Amino acid sequence: MQGLMQHWPLICTKIIDHAAAQHPNRLVLSRSVEGPLHRTNYAEVRSRALKAAKRLTRDGIVLGDRVATLAWNTWRHLEVWYGLLGIGAIYHTVNPRLFPDQIVWIVNDAADRMLFVDLTFVPLVEKLIDRMPTIEKIVVLTDAAHMPATTLPNAVAYEDWLAEADDDFRWAAFDETTAAGMCYTSGTTGHPKGVVYSHRSNVLHAFQATMPDMMGVGSRDVIMPVVPMFHANCWSLAFTTPMIGASLVLPGPKLDGASVHEMLEVGGVTFTAAVPTVWLMLLQHLDQTGGALSSLKRVVIGGSACPRAITEAFMRRYGVEVRHAWGMTETSPLGTICSVKPETLTSTVEEWLDLQTKQGIPPFGVEMKITDDENRALPHDGTTFGRLKVRGPAIASGYYKGIGAEAFDADGFFDTGDVATIDPNGYMQITDRAKDVIKSGGEWISSIDIENLAVGHPDVAEAAVIGIAHPKWDERPLLVVVPKKDRTPTREALLDYLSGRIAKWWMPDDVVVVEEIPHTATGKIQKTTLRDRFRDYRLP
Ligand code: ADP
Repeated sequence: MQGLMQHWPLICTKIIDHAAAQHPNRLVLSRSVEGPLHRTNYAEVRSRALKAAKRLTRDGIVLGDRVATLAWNTWRHLEVWYGLLGIGAIYHTVNPRLFPDQIVWIVNDAADRMLFVDLTFVPLVEKLIDRMPTIEKIVVLTDAAHMPATTLPNAVAYEDWLAEADDDFRWAAFDETTAAGMCYTSGTTGHPKGVVYSHRSNVLHAFQATMPDMMGVGSRDVIMPVVPMFHANCWSLAFTTPMIGASLVLPGPKLDGASVHEMLEVGGVTFTAAVPTVWLMLLQHLDQTGGALSSLKRVVIGGSACPRAITEAFMRRYGVEVRHAWGMTETSPLGTICSVKPETLTSTVEEWLDLQTKQGIPPFGVEMKITDDENRALPHDGTTFGRLKVRGPAIASGYYKGIGAEAFDADGFFDTGDVATIDPNGYMQITDRAKDVIKSGGEWISSIDIENLAVGHPDVAEAAVIGIAHPKWDERPLLVVVPKKDRTPTREALLDYLSGRIAKWWMPDDVVVVEEIPHTATGKIQKTTLRDRFRDYRLP
């Protein structure tokens, strides 16, 4: 017997419809690329998204077409995003920090038909456009007054383009499993792979994200995704925030400590999310200026392991709750968030900080296991490491064009490429990327654990640990650190600091102080480049 409930397809534009109906006047505040602050609300965002949808249709964009954006988080990007969703076209958020060759590669792979580009990236696109033959039209996300002189063929200012349509338009009708968006993994090995989200997966993921033990947000929150829309859908916040009717603050192009601080304060932000590097910059800025965080209550930190020193600074100095999170482009991206279960209720700050070194627990809709190389399940004892595999309605079932099928097992679990432990309370902790673990004498050393400790040293701004080939042990750890401004940490001081905090055989064989550590397009330490650089390094 079938249930007798309505079939109400989970389509992303229903989110902006709901926001406009229930929270029409809620503030959407952006830092514009042109400079000044810009204020709008959900009713207006929806109306302009409808115009965008109508205008896109006039440009010949139809269901299934891919359209690229190279843009910061602003209201215009949000309007285009919902406009595309409303006609069943696919937003393809391109990460402008990728190497230019990678940008060309993914735009061609996706065969994007149009490109929406921020003023910041016009010079970049001018250099690349000859190699992107599928792009028929370029819309610069600005108004006529700020439209630059450009060599780009068929380039128009967004406000002029949009003004040619009204909002008398109905969202197209299609199945909830229709593709909604695309995001390429950064492809540290080989070419980037296209992850294709569906309307259903985006809506379910946004539900998951709002749950109390996940982001735990509501209509009285003011939410600022510092994490860009091109980084895995800004971790669902472009959906979650209108879904719950919270006020949205979009930080635009400037993500340095001072600018992020200004937006947090001007917007009265209560909830925010980004990678650790952003928070390091903010905390350093606050240190230098003596600034305060007057409205912020909670920050979700993920994308790479959040060092304890960051969690502690937020909590002790500013009374802000950190929730450590793990996820991937392939998981929409939220996989786990570290919130407190009754079993892990802590009584001291120290215990709470210990808990926050873990990446946390999955929401309903993320099944998780760890396995050995033969895909046998490993115990959840908090110490056994295994390959982390996940399954759920907002997790990729394959990549665009069918590549990478080897990452999925017969039961549909996706092999994340991460190595992790799961404790008896269900808390997952990432040990390493499978390709970054250091194999010493047949045992595994977690580079992340050592890095997290090293950045707790008062002279260290950033740390990376890589394996160096060793004749006896196979590999041994080398600690690479960037000093804080005007500090000169020594090898001895750092090894002394680590001594007693990690197992003896985990102790780095050597320490190198460098000016800079290379980062990927999503702000992670680029271990491949570091490994190349230290390939011939001789350990003492
Ligand atoms: P990109 O390389 O493009 O940034 P993703 O954002 O999909 O791709 O990166 C996902 C990877 O980032 C995960 O597989 C994991 O290795 C790492 N990661 C994400 N969050 C964390 C975290 N909290 N701690 C440690 N590693 C993390």
